[in-house]
Amino acid sequence: MVTRPHEANPDEFNPWLRISSLIEKAGHLLGLDDGMITRIITPERILEVAVPVRMDSGDVHMFTGWRIQHNSSRGPGKGGIRFHPSVNVDEIAALSADMSIKCAVVNIPYGGAKGGVKVDPSALSRGELERLTRRYAFSIAPMIGPDRDIPAPDINTDMQVMSWIMDTVSMLRGHNTPGVVTGKPLAIGGTLGHAGATSLGVTICTLALLRQLERSPQEQRVVIQGYGKVGAPLVKLLTERGMKVVGLADIHGAIHVPEGIDPEKLALHFDESKSIMGYPGAEEVHADQLFELPSDIAIPAALGGVITEQVAEKMSAAMMVEAANGPTTGEGAGVLSSRNIPVVPDVLANAGGVVASYFEWAQDLQGFMWETELFHQRLEKTMHEAFDSIWERHLQLEVALRDTALVVGVERIAEATKLRGLFP
Ligand code: GLU
Repeated sequence: MVTRPHEANPDEFNPWLRISSLIEKAGHLLGLDDGMITRIITPERILEVAVPVRMDSGDVHMFTGWRIQHNSSRGPGKGGIRFHPSVNVDEIAALSADMSIKCAVVNIPYGGAKGGVKVDPSALSRGELERLTRRYAFSIAPMIGPDRDIPAPDINTDMQVMSWIMDTVSMLRGHNTPGVVTGKPLAIGGTLGHAGATSLGVTICTLALLRQLERSPQEQRVVIQGYGKVGAPLVKLLTERGMKVVGLADIHGAIHVPEGIDPEKLALHFDESKSIMGYPGAEEVHADQLFELPSDIAIPAALGGVITEQVAEKMSAAMMVEAANGPTTGEGAGVLSSRNIPVVPDVLANAGGVVASYFEWAQDLQGFMWETELFHQRLEKTMHEAFDSIWERHLQLEVALRDTALVVGVERIAEATKLRGLFP
């Protein structure tokens, strides 16, 4: 039995149904009873807020936002806030469940949460974006806090948005509350190393997978979908480790560069033209063809639900590392597994971001800032331990890495739930 926050359209990819069925499957593999499985699947709290914003024109526009706390048995809720026109309650619920699993997989003391506003932020002025952020932060303020639920950046939200949320909550509480959000600038309680931490985690997982498969990084051609917060640093990190990024897509299209993209040259080009298109010497291809380009490793690093059955069937790469949240549909995952393409799942591959957030939060609570070396040393250790433990269990269980990660995550959540018992 699956408890759904919302009646879904059966014809569309529904990320909530996907993650809840994965949790259910993991629960059955672990021999959990239906009551426990339902308890783990069901979000604890769903808040929907109306966000009225005075636009520069003087008109007031209404937006809708959500904050969902999925499970708090292992600790306070943790998860980003995204601003995107496609945001809806099912998507946020699914992403909040992903966060519960992700935090359990990397064994950090958090539950899962997620938030979002249905809005196209590129159509807003800076003032409109600030007013939208502050009103949304005000509306979810009763639900968040350093020991309750700690938001962070996600798609289309950044350090500036986190600063406004931190300031709004601090004003409401009457004292500085840096630990209420992570992904802040250094000057107001951020941490060295947060920017790029997700990409570093993806890189660590990619190298760990190559090591297990006994392949050398120097022989790998990579295609990456997305040149944003996660995709852009990845081009550099993977190239520095000897891989060739031969294909890259952004919202404008895709480029094919068989000899490998030069990260510095691309960054300069992107600064000038605000797009990867037109990168000198690149062949321009349709974004849909990205994963068909001759390659060894595929990395989706943008939106969810993009690796469908059709994309998976035509994928050229021999392995995939999920930098985005929920990039693969159930059908897509079925095709990849029948083609024996190993996939490092999102809840492990992209967990570097939330691990960095954990370190930032810990520093804020202590009021004691770490040096970059300590940050990187701990991030690498946490990611390596998580990868190794999932890999070892995967060999024992003989199921895909995704199912293994779900088993480990659900097992840890179930253990905490059992230990705590049921109130009242
Ligand atoms: N948005 C990131 C994620 O999906 C980071 C979340 C966080 O740091 O709380 O993992």
